[in-house]
Amino acid sequence: MADYPRVFLTGFSGTGKSTVASLVAKELGWRAVDTDALIEQAAAKPVSEIFASEGEARFRDLERESIAQAAKESNVVIATGGGALIDIQNRQAMADGLVVGLEASAETIIGRITEAEGSSSRPLLQSNDPLARVTELKAQRQQYYALAEVTIDTNGRTPEQVAGAVTAAARAADPWFAQHRERLLLPDERKGFATSEPVWVETVSRRYAGHVGWGLLDKLGELLRDLGIDDAAWIVSDSEVLPRHGDRALYALRRAGFRADAFAIPGGEASKRLDIAATVYDWLVTQRAERGHAIVALGGGVVGDLAGFVAATYLRGMPLVMAPTSVLSMVDASIGGKVAVDHAQGKNLIGAFYQPSLVVDDVSVLKTLPHRMLSEGYAEAIKHALILSPELLDLLEAHVDDLLHVEPAVTVDVVRRNVAIKASVVSQDERDTGLRAILNYGHTIGHAIEAVGGYTAVLHGAADAIGMTAAAEIGRRVGVTPQAVAERQRALLARFGLPTKAPPGIDAERVLEAMMLDKKVVGGTVHWVLLEDVGRAVVRSDVPMELVREVVYEVVELVG
Ligand code: NAD
Repeated sequence: MADYPRVFLTGFSGTGKSTVASLVAKELGWRAVDTDALIEQAAAKPVSEIFASEGEARFRDLERESIAQAAKESNVVIATGGGALIDIQNRQAMADGLVVGLEASAETIIGRITEAEGSSSRPLLQSNDPLARVTELKAQRQQYYALAEVTIDTNGRTPEQVAGAVTAAARAADPWFAQHRERLLLPDERKGFATSEPVWVETVSRRYAGHVGWGLLDKLGELLRDLGIDDAAWIVSDSEVLPRHGDRALYALRRAGFRADAFAIPGGEASKRLDIAATVYDWLVTQRAERGHAIVALGGGVVGDLAGFVAATYLRGMPLVMAPTSVLSMVDASIGGKVAVDHAQGKNLIGAFYQPSLVVDDVSVLKTLPHRMLSEGYAEAIKHALILSPELLDLLEAHVDDLLHVEPAVTVDVVRRNVAIKASVVSQDERDTGLRAILNYGHTIGHAIEAVGGYTAVLHGAADAIGMTAAAEIGRRVGVTPQAVAERQRALLARFGLPTKAPPGIDAERVLEAMMLDKKVVGGTVHWVLLEDVGRAVVRSDVPMELVREVVYEVVELVG
């Protein structure tokens, strides 16, 4: 706790910041400070009157002063105004504390503001359509709210429950935040950080842009317009992602004049099935979706693969926009046009090559991704670095903590480099008949381990990490991979919290069998992607099976 002598509560009006600040302060034995109260004291009039008589600019000046004053005190929980985070000076003052965001849906916010005393004087309720106004303002501010180190969902929770979550977050606070004052800056507020141009994917079937940035979801409508899509867009998402990011995407589309609606499949790999795809077809029928409308895949790799499959097949193909929300889907799954659903007999058995028309990576959404999924996703980024980019490997090694905390500038940079790597490989080999094979580094054994674990015991990234460890060991033993490269890889995987050995319960013989059934095995010959060095991958088909068996037994711990 010593790292954080103060906690700032941020978030939209109506998320309960003041009430929660008092409760948290009581629990921690600290003092609660409400910046609106400080402002009212300084101006000797209520906030509503400051707005009415002196204007918003005056209010913002007073707010800046009150935050600077509160930030000098220790052992305080500070409730800030709904727009405070937008101001860069406020964010710099808050950087010495733990910044906790309180989140609520626009409907919840309206409900709470309406119930609150004196609500009639709330400017937000004076508009003709308060719900639309709150949704709009929230969307505009979201890229700032996403900078908070911890976000707590207050929907359906009492102030006491929210305060409990804030107190727990404060007690468990991670020292990383205290040491990174720049963490509350947007990537393009950083000196020397140029807002990036899109990465272009140039395949035979389609040329499309991959945009990477912080807060890009709010520009979804404009980006779709640039494609020439101008009527309707149908968002396919999942039960975890839609409640967190759906409003923003929908608002961005509607604001740009699109008819738009959203449909959520249940989250998780189990949803990548034909019968779930059929529920999306049914929904598209009821929406009267047309061939010129867009399907927007808002979610992780499961949503991307399934919505992509639907886009490839419904009406014989509709424009597909990938809006990935997991690291894995940003750095890998959303680029390249492989879309599929699983079959009881195998993963991705039913699918197509169908390139998207646009990829929009809003890196700020990674702030809500569970920590485990964050590290899992970085397995693919490490793979890209090992096979193609020594520079990316250096960057990953230098910024493990930044990436695991979704530090904006570094994360945008790393995601962008990965998109560029995947784009370049896919552009040279759209149909996976040549160069694209090097992306299978670690997959041969990794996928087999994933399959033997039933796709639940070992997740994709973890399985690839184990597969890469095995591939490096095979490479080392056949004299291709230098020991130092194998060790460097192992160390980096471990720093990202990725395993280099399978968990108990995975049977080595079954892994070997599953490996031989893999669609990458042609005529019984396994093509091994091995590293000659960082950035230099080769494909070898002369690795003795006995050696493979030995290594598989080493990375798989036998039960009992
Ligand atoms: P996922 O889509 O299941 O997402 C993981 C979990 O995180 C889910 O529960 C999801 O709801 C949740 N989630 C995603 N984004 C979130 C966010 N921002 N905030 C909160 N929760 C969020 O899994 P994944 O790891 O993204 O993707 C795995 C899938 O990708 C597999 O089916 C795999 O086959 C596929 N894949 C496809 C390709 C390709 O080229 N098409 C490449 C690699 C992997």
